[in-house]
Parts: sequence; structure tokens; C-alpha cells
Amino acid sequence: MDLYANVIIDITHTDLDRVFQYRIPDGMEDVVSAGVAVKVPFGRGNALRQGYVVEVTDIAEYDTSKIKDVDSVAEGSLPIEAQLIALAAWMREDFGGTMNQALKTVLPVRRKTAERERRMIHLVPCGKEAVALLAECERKHQTARVRLLAALMEQSPLPYETVTGKLNVTAAVIRAMEEKGMVRVEHIRDYRNPLDRMKKKGETVALNSVQQGIADDILSRRKRGDLRPSLIHGVTGSGKTEVYIALIEAAVRERRQAIVLIPEIALTFQTVLRFYNHFGDRVSILNSRMSAGERYDQYERAKDGRLDVIIGPRSALFAPFDNLGFIIIDEEHESTYKSETVPCYHARETAIARAKMCGAMVVLGSATPSIESYARAEAGEYQLYQMMERVSRRQLPVVEIVDMREELRAGNRSPFSERLEELMEDRLAKHEQIMLFLNRRGMAGFVSCRSCGHEIKCPHCDVSLSLHNGGRLVCHYCGYTQPMVTNCPECGSKYIGTFKAGTQKMEQYVRRRFPEARVLRMDLDTTRQKDSYEKILSAFADQEADILIGTQMIVKGHDFPNITLVGVLAADLSLYISDYRASERTFELLTQAAGRAGRGEKAGEVVIQTYQPGHFAVVTAAAQDYQAFYREEIAFRKLMKYPPVWQMLVIHMSSANEGLVNRAADVLQYNLREKIREDAGFQLVGPADAVISKVNDIYRKIIYVKSADYAGLVRIKDELDAFVRENADFKSVAVQFDFNPMDGL
Ligand code: ADP
Ligand code: ZN
Ligand code: ZN
Repeated sequence: MDLYANVIIDITHTDLDRVFQYRIPDGMEDVVSAGVAVKVPFGRGNALRQGYVVEVTDIAEYDTSKIKDVDSVAEGSLPIEAQLIALAAWMREDFGGTMNQALKTVLPVRRKTAERERRMIHLVPCGKEAVALLAECERKHQTARVRLLAALMEQSPLPYETVTGKLNVTAAVIRAMEEKGMVRVEHIRDYRNPLDRMKKKGETVALNSVQQGIADDILSRRKRGDLRPSLIHGVTGSGKTEVYIALIEAAVRERRQAIVLIPEIALTFQTVLRFYNHFGDRVSILNSRMSAGERYDQYERAKDGRLDVIIGPRSALFAPFDNLGFIIIDEEHESTYKSETVPCYHARETAIARAKMCGAMVVLGSATPSIESYARAEAGEYQLYQMMERVSRRQLPVVEIVDMREELRAGNRSPFSERLEELMEDRLAKHEQIMLFLNRRGMAGFVSCRSCGHEIKCPHCDVSLSLHNGGRLVCHYCGYTQPMVTNCPECGSKYIGTFKAGTQKMEQYVRRRFPEARVLRMDLDTTRQKDSYEKILSAFADQEADILIGTQMIVKGHDFPNITLVGVLAADLSLYISDYRASERTFELLTQAAGRAGRGEKAGEVVIQTYQPGHFAVVTAAAQDYQAFYREEIAFRKLMKYPPVWQMLVIHMSSANEGLVNRAADVLQYNLREKIREDAGFQLVGPADAVISKVNDIYRKIIYVKSADYAGLVRIKDELDAFVRENADFKSVAVQFDFNPMDGL
């Protein structure tokens, strides 16, 4: 059977859609794979050109008699693009999607408008020649040329804008003089630097013994060739960032580079400044607020060797560094590290794959590691490091749980417990700051009892049921449904329903209750405008307000030393997400929220209000006991066969035609049952409606396949992919694959 190589000829100038197919001659099969540079005959004259293999396939796209052979594999060292293409191929295989989608993710497409240039005009003739030329132009009364020549004889080169502006010489005259060899126009690529106006300041800290011990161990493992990823489990404020900086400094001394991934929301001025203090202009950032041109410039600076460090969210992973030493992923548990668009790659896995290709090391850090990462650390796949104390012996805050069911029983229907109000009064009197965090994750349609805390769950999947418009409760894993209840099945109370409470309502309540307090609110509504996010945070940091109310966006990585009280309202809301990660999300949010208190000299206090005071995620978060949480959670995952113990492949089907999507789901389910009937290692769940079962009149269904064997799931994905492409039932039904989804369903 013949194999074919799909080749792109020029990655920087052509768009990536222009793929050419060549036959791989006998004997070359073993050396031709994605990312390999090859020489191929091109065009009518069959001149040899260099290209990159993006895919090897046995499917001929043209008449096979017209397909030319690959000439040879290109010699010599490979540019960074070859590595990124190989990475794209790995992503396509492990996460699904097409090669083209993967390439577009890893290679920034050059944009013409992105370039900004400076032009300088140089005088070409020198000395006597120039004097003679000037005289000649004077004789011919070419006054514009005379002005320019005279100016250049005083000073060369001159900026183009000065010449056209102050000297009033037109572009046409400059062009004519250039053609006659009198002047030369130099084009200088001007890179935008997003940290242009940043100033180095302040002292750098010396690592304490825990920090130093971890940095030393990672570096010595690197020397020994133990390149396993490291997981730093460090409580909030334990000084993880300083460890990252020490590692990067060691890499930079060896002329290696580093990528630091940080959730965009934590990529604040404060954080960037800490890196800038060490690396100055050799560090840059990427973020989604930058223009395409600005972003592209950072890639170019990285490629040209002008940068050592790039900090940014997920996409910064593809910075074109050719001698990468470290990839750091801070807050590694964050769900934003998983891409929601195809290819649905996870930055952690992709970082590990990239690091393997170039001998770099991956360092993960978090106060609340993902269950996946902690399980791998326990298994020895990652090296675990612990930082259980805050820097400078600052105390972890004291945490209290308040049972909101009791408050209801005592006649308190307000969103605030008596205890929280009492502490708020105290802090306002002392002029200390308060943060109120409203946990609003996964609000869509779950049903719970305000009297006893009971939540209505799927009997098969142990996740919350959601209330649909039709008034039925639905499980988004298996499709189970039941009628909505009017009374709590547990205690009979009529206070059962969907929970509604917004930040705006909270703000109104706080303003009424504490009229003297200055209140700021941060949520999606108040941060819609550019920079408003930073503005609110810096106003609060400058103590222009006493109370900051907000959603999860306020709990990430900000350092406000004057906060001594954090109130968590409705702590358990995130327990009701119809997702097997509900407890993990809750533990994470509560721990991060608690971590905001007492960052300065004064100790902090935290009040967690909840309807489920006994839930292990709430109890262990209050005790700030990650290990206890992990043990209970991993047991649940084992029992229910959820990741990381088992892996999940999600098949999304969508179509404008409801009948077609239902039929497609049945066809796929039948096909899957055939495939895995004999195999106890796989489990099929669904088809069921997606959480949002209809968007813009597109109907959406999902099927899950679970297995402990990831490679087996990848195989199933490939087989289904081929089946879908050849089956007429899927003409107008889109099918997408996703592994171990992170967020909702
Ligand atoms: P984490 O990233 O673990 O939350 P940080 O690295 O942000 O912790 O450190 C928390 C605070 O402690 C920061 O203000 C930092 O400047 C300070 N810090 C970190 N390490 C030291 C140290 N060795 N000595 C003094 N201060 C430190
Ligand atoms: Zn009840
Ligand atoms: Zn179910």
C-alpha cells in the first residue's frame, strides 16, 4: 500500500490550507513523519523546494498517476517550525480535529497589517562625490533634492518621517533619488513591546530554605536527566512564583528560554512586574487584549532570540523558542488550560509533549492541584514538592463554617448570616478590608432545598439533575429524566427550587445594611469595558473601598494585604454543577477564596456560608486539608469510573435538524455497541441532550465512552471519525470529539 505525505511548502508566506500531496517512495517510510522537512519537486519545471510534512496518510487525494514522489529528506538542523508541526500532529492524534485546525493553533498566521516599520534614509555617495552631486542638483534647480542632500551631509541616516515632514521632500522625490543611487532607504522592522513603559523597581527576595530546596532539587534532577514533570503543591502565598523565577534564571544562564503559563485573569500588573524585575526587556507577555499585530510581534521577538521568557495564557505554549528549558504552568488546576475549540487540547498534556521533544522540563504549581496531577504525582509520574507554609510565617486564615439552614430556621431570610454581619461591622470599624465572594458557578437550573440542603441527583451518575424549561429534571450524562418535585424528598419542605442570587442584589443589600461602607462590585457586568477589571482591582488595592463583592474572578491570585475578612456566600452552589468535577471545583474555589484573607501583617478570618456544612469538599476546604479532600475525591472517582481513574471520550453531535441529530446519535451508539460489546474495558453512556441542548436552533446531543485505556479511546475516536466521514447519515450532522472535558457538558 502506498503512503502519501501532505506537505506545506512555505509556512511563513502561504496560508496553511495549501497542502500538496507527494508519494513516499519505498525505503523512506520510516523517516518521513509530521514535522520532517523534505525536498519535493514543485511546479511545471519540477524544481526542488523545501517543505514540511504535516501528515502521512494512505488516502490519495488526487489521481495517483499524477502524484509526484518525495525527493529526499532535507539535511541540517531544523527550524522551530518543524518542532511545532510535529507537536500539532501529536495534538491532532490525541485530542481530535483536523491537521489544519491543529496547525492553525500552533503556528501564528502572519498578517500583512501586523508589520510596523521604521524607515531610515541614508546618503550613498561620500565626501567629494556628495559635494559634486549637491552642486549638480543646485545647478539643475532641483530644490527638494538639494534640501535632502544638504541635510544628509550633516547627518545620515535620517528618519523617513523627518524627511517627508520637516524637510518637505515627497515620497516620489525620495524614490527617484533612490533609483539614481543617491540615497538608500533602509527598512527596520519595529517590534511592539507591551512592557515598554515598565520600570524595574524594588528589591528581589532571597529564597527561603524550602524554596531553595525545591529549586535545587529540580535543577539537579535536570542535570541527572530526570526530566519528569514537577508538581509544586504550595498553599496560597507560599512563594511558588519565586521558585519559578529561580528556575528560569538558571535556564537563562545556559541560554535556554522559558514559557510561563498563567490564567489570563491572574496576569496582572503585579505578577508581570515581578518577572520584569528579573528579566527586564528579555521578558514579554501575550494576552487576548493585544491586537493580532502586537501578538505576532512577540512571536517574532521570541524567534529572533530577543526574548528569554514569555508569560501568557494557554496559547503562549506555542511561543517559537528553539532552546526551551522550562515550561511553567501556574494554577495548573484551572479549567481555562483546556481549549474549548477544536483541537480541544489541554495545555498540561501538550506542554509535556512539547517538553519531551526538546529536552525541557515542565513545572506545575497550585494550591489546589487537579486530581489528575496529584494522582500522577502519587504514581511517581510527576515529582511532588510541598510548600505547606506561607512565606514569613504569615498565618493561614481561620475559617468558620456557617450553616445557612440554621439561619433559615431562626427566621433569618437574608443572604448574610448573623456571624458574617457581626464580623463585617467589626472590620468596618477597624478600617480593614472585606471581600465577599459569591459562588455562582454552575447556576443553570440545579435544584436544591434551602431547608435541609438536599440536592436532587441522578441515581446512576451521582451528579446534579438540571431543571429544563419543560419542567423536567434531566441528567446530562446518561439522559435520565424525572418530573420536577414540589416538596423536598428528604425533609418535605417547600423551600425547594433553583437558587437565584446575583452580585447586584448582594450589592444592594450590603449598601442598605452598611450605608457608611464604600462598596465595589466586580462581575461580568462591571468588567465589560477595557481595563475596568484592572481599575476596580487597583481602586481596591489603594483602599478606595471597604468591601469588594464579586464572582470567581475576584478570588484568583491577587494580593491585598489589608483584607482581613473574606465571606463566601452560597459556598455550595458549585456543588450542583452537573459535572463529576463539582466537588473539586468547590474545594478549589473555597480554598482560593480563603487564601485571599490575611496576606499582609494582620491575620485573616474567613466565613463560609453553606446549606451543606457536612459536605466533604466544604469541610476539607475549611480545614485547608488538601490531602483529606484528595483521598475522598479519588475514592469517588474510582467508584464511579471517572477521570483520572478512567478516561472519558465525549462525542458531540449537532445539527439544525432535530430528527437527523437524534438518528445520528442512535447510529453512532449502535456502531459503538458493536465495537465494544466484547470488551469489558469500555463503558458507553448516553446518548443524552447536551447541557445546552439547543443553541441558535442547532440541536446538540452527546455520547460518552469511558475506559481506563486512553490509547483505546483514541483508537475508537479514529474509527468513528472514519465511519462518520463515509456515512450518509452524517451529511448534515457535525461530529466533534473531546477527551476529559473540563467545564460543564
Ligand atoms: P504563591 O505564588 O505561592 O502564592 P508568591 O510567590 O506570590 O506566592 O509569594 C507571596 C508573597 O511572599 C509575595 O509578596 C512575595 O514577594 C513574598 N515572598 C516570596 N518569597 C519570599 C521570600 N523568600 N522572602 C520574602 N518574601 C517572599
Ligand atoms: Zn429538604
Ligand atoms: Zn445519569
